[in-house]
Amino acid sequence: MPADFLTDAENTWCPGCGNFSILYSLKRIIENYKKEGGDTKKIVLVTGIGCHAKIADYLDINSVYSLHGRAVPFASGIKIADPGLKVICCVGDGDSYAEGLEHILFAAKRNTDITVIVHDNRVYGLTIGQYTPTSPSDYHGKTNPPDGCDLPFNPLKLMLCSGASFIARGYTGKMKQLESLIKAGMDHKGFSMVEVLQICASFYNKRDLYDKYTYEYKGDAKTAAKALEAAGEWDYNSESPIPLGIIYDSERKTFEERFKDIKKDNDKQKTAVLKYLGR
Ligand code: SF4
Repeated sequence: MPADFLTDAENTWCPGCGNFSILYSLKRIIENYKKEGGDTKKIVLVTGIGCHAKIADYLDINSVYSLHGRAVPFASGIKIADPGLKVICCVGDGDSYAEGLEHILFAAKRNTDITVIVHDNRVYGLTIGQYTPTSPSDYHGKTNPPDGCDLPFNPLKLMLCSGASFIARGYTGKMKQLESLIKAGMDHKGFSMVEVLQICASFYNKRDLYDKYTYEYKGDAKTAAKALEAAGEWDYNSESPIPLGIIYDSERKTFEERFKDIKKDNDKQKTAVLKYLGR
């Protein structure tokens, strides 16, 4: 018999992969949710394409594999169709910051009530080592010139500037904190993004850097200017302190709430038109 919320599918992740930390964090969150009386059938997991996506095979909850880069709009559609569902979206850094970049920015802009967990190992692991938008400039992958690739962008800054109402950063080597950040993202009403610095044990293992430079951020997460400052503390390219924790947490109406208002207005319009037509 499989253990609670784990399927009996054979796990094919490499030993030491950071995906395990995210899998077990989610498993514990779901177990606790059930213990507290939550209906786990109302949780839906959407994944993209990449090593991260196999988490849908291993977690015994409602889940769907989406297309490469399209997990976020897929998750948004599920949430809009049934706002009573709790929608989690696991994506990779290549998956969401390259192929699906516009989708994640627009979900943040709209404040769709979904939780996006980015498994950011800063490499395309499944296709054995191409560089991604967060690979540092000295990364020598299979598809960039030998003297390195472009400068990485900072996804936290990008998401803040796009209007995300909740942003956190965790690290797969600090599981207890990671679990609390994912839980906080899921409890947040509105778009939440948890950027997870993840070790790719086979193609890009930055354990030494993360162990040395990550620290627990306890600054003001309610102020956008402070959040931008915290997000900019590390540029994804150099060796400097890396804040982990909730970077930004604010409240505004969600897309689903505004969508309901539009529907009400449409209903009023329809009634007025029918009245005008005498029907
Ligand atoms: S290639 Fe990297 S990300 Fe993929 S399973 Fe192996 S360690 Fe994990």
